Amino acid sequence: MAPATSEKLKRPAWMRNDPLLTQIGLDELNNRGYINLHDASIDLSFRNCSDDEIHPLFQRGRWSQKDLATMDFDALRPTLRLASRLLQCNTSIYYLSAILDQANYGTIDPKYLRPESNPNWFRVPDNLSTEKKLATRAALDDLVTRTTWQLLDSKVYPDIAGMTRLHWVPVDPPIVGMPQIRTTKLYLASIFIDILCRGVSPASFAVEWTPGTDAESARLRYSLVCAIALVHEVMHAFWNVRGEYPEEGILTEGPPEPFYMDTRIAELGFQWQTLVLGGEFYGILEPFIFPYGARTSRWPGPTELAERKHTELRMSLRKYGHVRNWQTRYAVSMDWVRSLFTDAFWKEIERNGDGGLKIQRKLGARRKLDNESQWLEGEEQVPYEFIESPTSVLSNEDEEDCQGLGIVDRYDGGEKWHMTKNDWERHGSETDPPASSLISDFDHGIEELE
Ligand SMILES: [Zn+2]
Repeated sequence: MAPATSEKLKRPAWMRNDPLLTQIGLDELNNRGYINLHDASIDLSFRNCSDDEIHPLFQRGRWSQKDLATMDFDALRPTLRLASRLLQCNTSIYYLSAILDQANYGTIDPKYLRPESNPNWFRVPDNLSTEKKLATRAALDDLVTRTTWQLLDSKVYPDIAGMTRLHWVPVDPPIVGMPQIRTTKLYLASIFIDILCRGVSPASFAVEWTPGTDAESARLRYSLVCAIALVHEVMHAFWNVRGEYPEEGILTEGPPEPFYMDTRIAELGFQWQTLVLGGEFYGILEPFIFPYGARTSRWPGPTELAERKHTELRMSLRKYGHVRNWQTRYAVSMDWVRSLFTDAFWKEIERNGDGGLKIQRKLGARRKLDNESQWLEGEEQVPYEFIESPTSVLSNEDEEDCQGLGIVDRYDGGEKWHMTKNDWERHGSETDPPASSLISDFDHGIEELE
């Protein structure tokens, strides 16, 4: 018996909060190549990878012996090779060089900051001399012996992909004026290793659906997010070890990071991701569980303020014209994910530059926050004066990277979602996307899933 309409819209808990699942649906995402790779063979040149192709920061010697004993390290090689490429692409080297070089820094007017925040902003220069490139690579090499990797139990910390901790180690024998040196311990979510090196099937996180989650496609997404998490943490470690900050007393946690240009949040890992990949990279539905494809969106997103320590926040000079009360989540093409693990892709990057690393944004669903207090949560912690009326925070301007093309305003009953569908034929766009009919595909098993 067909369920009543209201029953059709009653969504299983596992998809309720993700606009890509509720508005587009698994079938549509899968048909368009965002979940399962459609050709059977996953031919990755990165599978044949020697130690030379892995940066010393990621090699076996840097990992906790205890963790190594419980994993198949060789299975991690394609991931480590990808992490090494991402770490050493031009954009990353320019970025790391900019962090090192005081010539790239400016000071922020204190009225836009908390006193405990880092008062500096930095920019990435347009050109980098060979000498500075070499110095940056040397600084990365210097990080190697000060870095160890350890797994963080994802059952205890399900929301954490990685973490970096600053440590101080006494110099032996002691040196006058430098009694201790900075080292870092980097933590990586154990779920990535469970999937990549311990035989756990990533498809086991998916509900039953047809045709079902292809384990190899899902494993590739884990491999990519793991590579991103590794480099993300290296960015924090680099600052902890090499950053210019006063060493009065011994800091118990990492020192506040500088702000990148006018960005509102000081977070060198996400900032790196934004510069290289164009934004965040998370799983559809769950940030670090990838049974239904991956998504990207602009960073920082509208709810990010509430999730950050107040010392990481500043007011941007463009704040009220720039920050939006909505977020568009775009599905990430699996063909693109796979291409990253091939030599052909990286040869293309060498020829044409890092622009090809930016995740394409073609199919997405937009979430609008209509609850003003949710949007402004976190704001009140920042002790600055409003320079413009806060009402303009809730502007409805379109996302710049959509250029207004192919955006369909479509509010779903009761929920403030609307969609963009840039890769759908513009002429066919008079008709609403068949979101409700797609949702009905998931009527099965609702009771069990609630
Ligand atoms: Zn981070």
